[in-house]
Amino acid sequence: MTKEKPKIEEHSVFRHFALDERILRAVAHLGYERPTPIQEQAIPLALAGQDVMGAAQTGTGKTAAFGLPLLHRVLSEKFDKPAALVLSPTRELAVQIEESLKKYAKHTRLKVLAIYGGVGYGPQVDGLKKGADIIVATPGRLLDHVSRGTLHLESLRMLVLDEADRMLDMGFLPDVRRIIARIPKERQTMLFSATFPDEVTKLSKEILNNPKLVQIGHKSSAARGLTHTAYPVPAHLKPDLLTEILFEINSPAVLIFTRTKHRADRIQKMLTKHKFEVTSLHSDRTQKQRMAALDGFKQGKYRVMVATDIAARGIDVTGITHVINYDLPATSEDYVHRTGRTARAERLGDALTLVAPDEEVLLREIERHLGQAMTRAALNHFDYTVAAPEKATGLQKTSGTVGPQAKTFTSSHRRPKIPRKMGR
Ligand code: AMP
Repeated sequence: MTKEKPKIEEHSVFRHFALDERILRAVAHLGYERPTPIQEQAIPLALAGQDVMGAAQTGTGKTAAFGLPLLHRVLSEKFDKPAALVLSPTRELAVQIEESLKKYAKHTRLKVLAIYGGVGYGPQVDGLKKGADIIVATPGRLLDHVSRGTLHLESLRMLVLDEADRMLDMGFLPDVRRIIARIPKERQTMLFSATFPDEVTKLSKEILNNPKLVQIGHKSSAARGLTHTAYPVPAHLKPDLLTEILFEINSPAVLIFTRTKHRADRIQKMLTKHKFEVTSLHSDRTQKQRMAALDGFKQGKYRVMVATDIAARGIDVTGITHVINYDLPATSEDYVHRTGRTARAERLGDALTLVAPDEEVLLREIERHLGQAMTRAALNHFDYTVAAPEKATGLQKTSGTVGPQAKTFTSSHRRPKIPRKMGR
């Protein structure tokens, strides 16, 4: 008797792409019924070997948009190993892309390997010796392997730069240039970026050959399905308001952003005292701690994660219902990235921003960027008038600020009543 193969739904719209049957089967298993808009546009171009410049909102299905064609091409063409390289700005994103590509490749023999810093070289060297078809890497560690002679880039025929804007923000431009200089010119290159500051446009002109532009939605716009609400609050009351909001939303997955690692640690401690299951993600934590935090958050062990911008870049955790900006981000583009951690893949999500009086200017800049004014909201029964204790710091605990828990929190998941709006 032959082993029964899982059927690919005949109506699966992915079928109209000329993708390898094994890839289609994996996609069907993942429950992807129809391509997202970026996949619809990018997959045929990428399969044809075209260079692609993708401007897509976060959480739009970018990874499969470039990943499925990469896998297909490696399966159907005779390339030496490694054939493809995906560059990622952060370790977490590299691991996430590796996981996705492995899922898409699970019915094939293709090998996908992530190479990133903060962990030992041994397993990566072993992986490279075994021969990887596709490498997903952060720039620094990749170059380390190249200079140690444990990795050669001459065989590469496909290159993807993911989250190119953040890669340059993080100062990786010289590394990226050094890497590209070692990759044969005869290659397919795809560059994805949420935003297109001048630096990214300049780089794309240098490295892409007659690229096709794939653009989803407005340039650098925030994810659809996302509501934006601002909570004006005196700086010294932010800890109390945050705690109260968390009680109110009672969500299984909330991501909180702070401006600094130090503040992320302090918020984590404070919330732990309030018995929240909370972890944190920032660059002072070891790679092992970062992975444990992210895995724990993904698996629901922690319901709250406090993170800084860089560490949380590109993170894809299913089911994040709320992103809370404890501090405003430095730029409007960071706001788009932060809030893009929720409302992914056409789900709903809420972005809440605690705004101290001196952050109003930044908030208005973000509103201009989004092209919309945010709803100003306040929690009922929260005493906004408590004076700052002497020598107050932004995180100092104040006492007696919180009355009975209000049931008027704004959420697209649980929206009992509209919150009391504050005058603009
Ligand atoms: P990405 O933008 O690549 O990080 O993808 C965001 C999320 O959307 C991931 O959890 C993917 O598994 C999911 N996803 C990607 N493509 C599809 C699709 N066509 N249908 C449903 N979910 C998808």
